[in-house]
Amino acid sequence: MAVAHPIQIRFERYDGQLAIAPATPPRFVTPEEKPRIIERIKHLLKERDAVLVAHYYVHPDIQDLAQETGGTVSDSLEMARFGHAHSGKTVVVAGVRFMGETAKILNPEKKVLMPDLNAECSLDLATPIDEFSKFCDAHPDRVVVVYANTSAAVKARADWMVTSSIAEKIVAHLHAQGKKILWAPDKHLGDYVQRVTGADMLMWNAACVVHDEFKAVQLEELKLLHPGAKVLVHPESPKAVIDLADAVGSTTGIIQAAERMKAKEYIVATDGGIIHQMRKRMPGVTFIEAPTAGKGATCQSCAHCPWMAMNGLHNLLAVLENPNPKNEVHVDPEIGRRARIPIERMLEFAKTHLPQMKGSGDA
Ligand code: SF4
Repeated sequence: MAVAHPIQIRFERYDGQLAIAPATPPRFVTPEEKPRIIERIKHLLKERDAVLVAHYYVHPDIQDLAQETGGTVSDSLEMARFGHAHSGKTVVVAGVRFMGETAKILNPEKKVLMPDLNAECSLDLATPIDEFSKFCDAHPDRVVVVYANTSAAVKARADWMVTSSIAEKIVAHLHAQGKKILWAPDKHLGDYVQRVTGADMLMWNAACVVHDEFKAVQLEELKLLHPGAKVLVHPESPKAVIDLADAVGSTTGIIQAAERMKAKEYIVATDGGIIHQMRKRMPGVTFIEAPTAGKGATCQSCAHCPWMAMNGLHNLLAVLENPNPKNEVHVDPEIGRRARIPIERMLEFAKTHLPQMKGSGDA
């Protein structure tokens, strides 16, 4: 059996220094073994009374499995909400660790499993709780608003949690009340929300290793080759890329914008995993990944999150064959209780301010 070696992913810490975290690609699946593994996973999901919830950015095989077995493919909050509403005793989360933690916070009574608990996120890694707490303590006059892509401990320190679907509305709401905001962790999303709302926002420093790599100059060149294409951009991307967008939105927002605009071609600046769902929903439409190559490119991700990619068919099967404590998500009950407050505050707000999204959002 070929052993997959970890790749080393560079990301920027809150203090501007570079740090490195590993991401281990999943074991390769041969075409011969794939049907057998998929059938076995389907069987075990039933036998274990488990539901598979997958993020838009994981491999298409896992997205299809989730949809074919009564699970869901969605954003991080909807993943947690779906797991909560589902009658299954076990929730299997195919995503990254903060998504498993959020699922556990909202479903403390259920067993939450992940194919690989080492699936990280550069935003989460760049926001260690001790430093973040000091930052909050130094600015007691500010309302602490954190993005979903953070640890349970960071959420527990926050007043509000937001997702990219609802960040703008919540910040505008707080701004209208005269509140000043401390924002963490994504600097590009924070900058975008600040420009749209005009709120007084003090920023933490962190970026997504996938969206940070999109390149404006190369995007302009690609637009020249596809003059009819509409550009869809996730707001975790740099400002120069956002400025070229026909629509800026969360993962769910991008899919909805494409359905609404009815163009024949789209250039998509977010993780390429989402294109699988877009092709399924809009057959015959062309979707092109926005460029990450060019001057200054490091192409660590090439528009595919290396940590989302850690979810594979082999480790998904293994977690169902032999549920192992090292694959089970645990959140300290007291941290979970406190982290639930900013999450539920957002969900309550969403009921009245974002009814079309059913209170969900995404990372
Ligand atoms: S795509 Fe970016 S924000 Fe999403 S999990 Fe990967 S590193 Fe984190």
